[in-house]
Amino acid sequence: MGFLMISIKHSLLSLAVLFLLFINPAHATYMEVTLLGTGTPRPSIERFGPATLVEVRGRYFLFDSGRGATIRLAQAGVNLAQIEHVFLTHLHSDHISGLSDLWLTSWIWQRPEKIKLTGPTGTEKLAEHLGRAHQADFNYRTKNTQLSKDTFSILSQDIESEGVVYEQDGITITAFLVNHYPVEPAYGYRIQSGETVIVISGDTTYSENLIRHAKDVDLLIHEIAAADSKLLSQNPRLQKVLSYHTTPRQAGQLFNIVKPKAAVFNHVLLFDIDEEQVLETTRSLFDGHLRMGHDLMKIGVGDTVTFY
Ligand SMILES: [Zn+2]
Ligand SMILES: [Zn+2]
Repeated sequence: MGFLMISIKHSLLSLAVLFLLFINPAHATYMEVTLLGTGTPRPSIERFGPATLVEVRGRYFLFDSGRGATIRLAQAGVNLAQIEHVFLTHLHSDHISGLSDLWLTSWIWQRPEKIKLTGPTGTEKLAEHLGRAHQADFNYRTKNTQLSKDTFSILSQDIESEGVVYEQDGITITAFLVNHYPVEPAYGYRIQSGETVIVISGDTTYSENLIRHAKDVDLLIHEIAAADSKLLSQNPRLQKVLSYHTTPRQAGQLFNIVKPKAAVFNHVLLFDIDEEQVLETTRSLFDGHLRMGHDLMKIGVGDTVTFY
């Protein structure tokens, strides 16, 4: 009897929670982030190429598809064909070199519909040329198999200007310009569902526009780059590279204005400097929740932000 009462109470409580979730559209929606790749162009077994997975109510969105994205998706237990949409921050090769693998392998594994690709000017051309480059594979595989020809090609879209690039079932994804000069345009993305907001910086140096779009965000996923000061002073090429990325001091200043519930570093580009030093410098300017990201790190984002 006691058990029955507890069950009834439990059911009523569950109904109340469901009511809140569905009746109040502003209620925080849970999103789950998996940092698939937190690396850069440098080949690294620990840090694969840039790729960030965001799951919202059973929908999977991928932001950049760098080296090894398919391997990390498999490690994370995600069926490749479930990736419905890929968003590119910019067209530097480290952010797209894993795209063909994801697209073609998910097609072989019976993708239910075409993969969608959204990115800066040049994305449509990229998709068109990839289609041509892999025509021979398409011909071999469709000759004697039941693979759907209709789901082979990429449905691509160039972003004309910053603004909303996806809006469906209460999920809004907005592209905004960041500063990765001379790479233009380069975008960051803001993903919103209910009251929950995640911002991904893409590659950028300190960006006022990012601050505008990321203010009070739940989770800020931000790139980072740093070098040993002596090495930096002797190396003009390195100075150039760091000029279009974000240093720990810049990150600390920016986080202090944005005031995210939590911040995590990805695209970790370090030259003779260790991660602890990077975190220490950033934390001297920002006393909020900050983590160094690593491949396959999972982050639950809703009323609270939880790192797994
Ligand atoms: Zn990059
Ligand atoms: Zn870049």
